Amino acid sequence: MKVNSADIVISAASKKQYPKAPIPEIALAGRSNVGKSSFINRMIQRKNLARTSSKPGKTQTLNFYIINDKFHFVDVPGYGYAKVSKKERAKWGAMMEEYFAEREQVKATALIIDIRHKPTEDDQLMYDYLKHFDLPVMVIATKLDKIKKGQRKKQLKMIQDVLEMEEEDALIPFSSETGEGKDVAWKTMLSHLNL
Ligand code: GDP
Repeated sequence: MKVNSADIVISAASKKQYPKAPIPEIALAGRSNVGKSSFINRMIQRKNLARTSSKPGKTQTLNFYIINDKFHFVDVPGYGYAKVSKKERAKWGAMMEEYFAEREQVKATALIIDIRHKPTEDDQLMYDYLKHFDLPVMVIATKLDKIKKGQRKKQLKMIQDVLEMEEEDALIPFSSETGEGKDVAWKTMLSHLNL
């Protein structure tokens, strides 16, 4: 997939600010600091379009990017950061609900997790939450470069089992460092976007 253009459309704090263009989109979710911005930047071949968060859990907006004038990536705020206040947490929940319950043009989601570790309880809740909206969930197991080749199969099986992944959902090993997995990730995304 050749990315000719990628730009931020808006950092939306509420529904009123969502882009009006009736084009399909993919939402990207993940624990704070898991490597979500790095994933986005690698997919669109930009160094720093999605800002790697220096303060995890701080960005409480949905960031809409437009790719090739054809579809959106929607970067949803990271979760699982312990130091977030109860109030911030509630705000995050409301923001997620407002988006996922009502946005019709979201076709699929990408859940970014760390291939090195057992999915956290928050990761498991997020997978179930996304499935509850009947959305395909591509699980992106990132930081692939950090494990030995011989460990890959075992880690992937463990992730699939812990998340109790559904048959229809792809589990894609990925590295933002090396770009491994990028072609498979695009292929899966484009099939969900019907492009
Ligand atoms: P975010 O908070 O989820 O957006 O996470 P970032 O994209 O900012 O990544 C968090 C840290 O993990 C940064 O130091 C990245 O350089 C590093 N990182 C992200 N993806 C990878 C990867 O695939 N391989 C390696 N080795 N490091 C990664």
